[in-house]
Amino acid sequence: MTSKITVAYGDGIGPEIMESTLLLLQQAKADLSFNTIEVGKKIYEQGYNSGLTQDSWQKINETGIILKAPITTPQGGGYKSLNVTLRKKLGLYANVRPVSSFFPFVATKFPKLDVVIIRENEEDLYTGIEHRHTNQYFQCLKIITKQGCEKIIRYAFDYAVANGRSKVSCFSKDNIMKLTDGLFHSTFNEIAKDYPNIATDHHIIDIACAKLATKPENFDVIVTLNLYGDIISDIVAEISGSVGLAGSANIGQDFAMFEAIHGSAPDIAGKNIANPTGLMQAAVMMLNHLGQAKVASTIRNALYKTIEDGIHTADIYNYDNSHKKVSTIDFTKAVIANLGYEPKQLPIANFTSSKPIVSQHKFAIDNQVKSLIGCDVFIDWHGRIADLNNIFVNFNDLELKTISCKGLSLHPDIINADGLLALRFVGRGICGSSTTQIINRNGKINSAIILKLLAFLEQNKLEFVKIENLYLFDGIAYFSSGQGE
Ligand code: NAD
Repeated sequence: MTSKITVAYGDGIGPEIMESTLLLLQQAKADLSFNTIEVGKKIYEQGYNSGLTQDSWQKINETGIILKAPITTPQGGGYKSLNVTLRKKLGLYANVRPVSSFFPFVATKFPKLDVVIIRENEEDLYTGIEHRHTNQYFQCLKIITKQGCEKIIRYAFDYAVANGRSKVSCFSKDNIMKLTDGLFHSTFNEIAKDYPNIATDHHIIDIACAKLATKPENFDVIVTLNLYGDIISDIVAEISGSVGLAGSANIGQDFAMFEAIHGSAPDIAGKNIANPTGLMQAAVMMLNHLGQAKVASTIRNALYKTIEDGIHTADIYNYDNSHKKVSTIDFTKAVIANLGYEPKQLPIANFTSSKPIVSQHKFAIDNQVKSLIGCDVFIDWHGRIADLNNIFVNFNDLELKTISCKGLSLHPDIINADGLLALRFVGRGICGSSTTQIINRNGKINSAIILKLLAFLEQNKLEFVKIENLYLFDGIAYFSSGQGE
């Protein structure tokens, strides 16, 4: 049955590489019909700050599948990234980015590179929740949920099983972000137990990047959080030969979107020199997702044969490895001419029809006992610390435990402070306040006490900017302590 897909031409080099890819799909006789939508810069400029009109949402709902060229997100001005909006609104939780090298046909220092990056797509710093609190202080919230971690990590393991991969590596920064990245890492360890035939390891993201950029052949499938995944997939694609070579799939329960991993490349837009390979690879992933494995194999083989023949766009053209430098459209014509042929040295694709991966989630039931034991109140303060301490001497409901600034506990000897200070209040009788200490439960408080505290701040003309409640779960504190506390 013909699959109807939504096509978005995008900005910059988007229209050039999309025309090439659609021409290839038509010539290869992919069983598709197209529904086009306009997205990106023009739509932003018409006042739609998500980069998409209501009519386009309807078309996406009708097809469930999007093939999208890159778009340009205007800087500032309250514009929201269209890519992030699509991923979140359509529940596209898994971003799958396979990258392999085309050695010896495309110059690379890494002939054995063959990595699949599976990036969490809906959470992390990409929730885009940002605030400015004072003249100096700006914040961006990093949101991580248990369900979000479970969904992406289970998908990564299921992907490894379905694609005959042997190892899944987890990248996080849980030595610093013990609660958020810590949750990702501990969920990874838990889920790994369900896949005894898949090898696993964990790397701290900074050293992971260094290892990936020098010995990528040591990695197979990588699962990681949103921001890290974004960064490492560009690194890996670039060291494979060009950022223009890799495609990606954004997979959700009801929708899927396929795109190249690179951006709209405004520096080369309109010059007919962009490499359309990334979007063509994305189209191959889309055909496999739609169960059109035969035509997906035909296109992939023609694409690899063309690269093997040394017919190269400028980004991968190299005197030693290439035969001919070609434009976007001439590269496309060469791929079309190669339909029905296979590469001799690069791997031959022979995809078999398989259903899209649907992971069975178990989602841990939250039955931990939650107790409110205090709060961090953030105030905009310029003055003596002693004066601040004196204000709270007569507030008997809660104890001012620590004062910190940017996560650093202020030493009692510090005379003046300037900026956003976090005042940590806990119920009287509560001892300890770190994530590792069990805290005396007698100190449990309620929100009425916090409201009293806020009223007290107001009476004393202290401007509170925000508060964060402090909770225990089953008696364990789930909030960070100040450095030096
Ligand atoms: P970019 O990926 O567009 O370009 C980086 C470099 O790689 C440039 O030198 C460019 O010429 C080159 N390049 C990229 N794709 C190429 C291709 N197919 N063939 C040959 N060379 C290619 O990254 P950028 O410059 O940081 O971003 C430009 C715009 O793209 C920004 O507005 C950004 O927000 C947007 N962007 C969009 C997406 C998307 O729509 N999925 C992803 C990333 C960036």
